[in-house]
Amino acid sequence: MGRQNGLPIYSPVNDDGAFAYSNELPVGQQMPAEMLGKSILEKHGKSDANEMVLHELRLRKALLHQENYHHSYPHCWRSKTPIIFRAMDQWFIRIDHVAVPQKSETFRNEALDAIQQKVEWIPEWGRNRIEGAVKSRPDWCISRQRTWGVPLPAFYDAQGNDILDAAIIRRVADVIERNGSNIWFEKSVAELWALVRPADWSGAEAAAKSNDTLDVWIDSGSSSRAVLMRRKELSHGDVPLSWQADMYLEGTDQHRGWFQSSLLLSLAGNGAPPFKTVLTHGFMVDADREKISKSKQTGYEKPQTAEAYVKKYGADIVRLWVASQDYRNDIVVSDERINKVSETYRGIRNTLRYQLSNLSDFDPAKHAVPEARLTPLDRWILAGFTALYTDVVNAYERYEFHVVYQKISQFVTVELSAIFHDIVKDRLYTDPVGSHRRRSTQTVLHSMVTGLCELLAPILVFTADEAWEFLPGYAGDSVHEAQWNIGTFALEESERALWETLFKIRESALAELERARQAKTIGKSLDAVVRYSAVGDNLTVAQENTGLLRELCNVSGITIEKGGEGSFWVSPAATEGRVKCERCWHWESDVGSDDNHPTICARCVAAVKESPAGGPADAQH
Ligand SMILES: [Zn+2]
Repeated sequence: MGRQNGLPIYSPVNDDGAFAYSNELPVGQQMPAEMLGKSILEKHGKSDANEMVLHELRLRKALLHQENYHHSYPHCWRSKTPIIFRAMDQWFIRIDHVAVPQKSETFRNEALDAIQQKVEWIPEWGRNRIEGAVKSRPDWCISRQRTWGVPLPAFYDAQGNDILDAAIIRRVADVIERNGSNIWFEKSVAELWALVRPADWSGAEAAAKSNDTLDVWIDSGSSSRAVLMRRKELSHGDVPLSWQADMYLEGTDQHRGWFQSSLLLSLAGNGAPPFKTVLTHGFMVDADREKISKSKQTGYEKPQTAEAYVKKYGADIVRLWVASQDYRNDIVVSDERINKVSETYRGIRNTLRYQLSNLSDFDPAKHAVPEARLTPLDRWILAGFTALYTDVVNAYERYEFHVVYQKISQFVTVELSAIFHDIVKDRLYTDPVGSHRRRSTQTVLHSMVTGLCELLAPILVFTADEAWEFLPGYAGDSVHEAQWNIGTFALEESERALWETLFKIRESALAELERARQAKTIGKSLDAVVRYSAVGDNLTVAQENTGLLRELCNVSGITIEKGGEGSFWVSPAATEGRVKCERCWHWESDVGSDDNHPTICARCVAAVKESPAGGPADAQH
């Protein structure tokens, strides 16, 4: 309204918050002398300046009404003190203008184009968020009236006109680089001007300098120039734009902040974004979904800080917990969640320990069994692990660390702990040391423990490296020097179908064994023999894979017969006249058949004869 009626932009408040003469008004229109120096800041709900204005209006009979009222009022977010508005001269970067004379696009369109075409945003919605921020941004006000910060390097002549010259600003930058930014505030105008005035300068001479500082987003937004473009270790030779960061990574609030200021400054300075990819994450929140942050002082006192957790659980578990959470949403920090992850950690650690402890006599160079000659069970687990490896590497490539966590913990819990490791114990502990079956299983254990270390290395940094050192043939390197090693091993379609059938049969056997255990008919499943009756495919599969099925069910004996039920009958092995072998704990009918070994079965006799020490077995059950 003031501007519509031709009033000047009138700002009679000085930097101390007191009334002062304003340059905008001629002498005759300045405020009365007695008002000068009165503070507009409130003390005890009143300000001297307000009282003076009211008094002046009353004197001139211009006051229509006076009343106190409550209303919301802006406060400094940091110090919580009330803020006044003042009309000030400010510096801007224009956003809606053509950035470079040779180009036809406005700077805003150039930025929008870079957002669409030149940067990958993870998650994808980051693109919309920064696009919205850039679309709605007004011209960028880059000057601040703060008592600290990077000085805005502008000089003024005696008439108050600015002196802006690229050569002078370059010299100011050099002076500041040598002396620090305080030199701008410490030196007088004359001293500064003498330092930076070009010898052939023909323009106006400086009479004043700016006291403004730069918007702090200029400081952080120019990190590409100050860090990426300057540090040799971050460049990749002479490749154009090699200074670009592979990734900028920050919270969701930075689409309006750092991501945007970095993009705009780099586009203005280099014509290209400073990043190839931008990854955004949610915030840490406590169990009540309250943000844990540094501006909330209480955040430091809470036990749910990274340092406290690292102390309590160790860095690897904290990393595993961070990886396990979907960072695209806010992350709830709670003891319950981290406890759950530490259980997973123990499962993974036990898996590595199990695999390594069964490789103590295995030399891959001498003993490895070629893929084509692996036993069916080993082929099955190797195919599963190869698929896992591919999935996990793909999840890493997509920065979906929670998927890495889910896939690995699922495989470790189900395929390895609940199935494979349990089944192969018998082979590993009781087969002759150098038998094909045992070496076959050791071959896949070796592949898997090597692969697991590689897959876990980015997250379980210490654990994976520690396990790596125990690999057979360890050559003194670190797992962190290893490359991804994606295999191609897969089962034939017919093998896949066979396993599906075998696991279905195993499932019903386990249910029947569990019932027998509950009824106290048997103790462990090895104490039992089972009879399986089936027809069709199930019968064929069971007849052709009886040995494998016995292993899968971990029983002492299995007989297959033709019948309609497709069901199991469990009975104690002792009722068949079988005797428990002291070495492998299987109930067999040939225990004691060798007079030299009256307490063990024929299979164990063969094993003991091959490796007189008794194999790796005895202590293991
Ligand atoms: Zn035995």
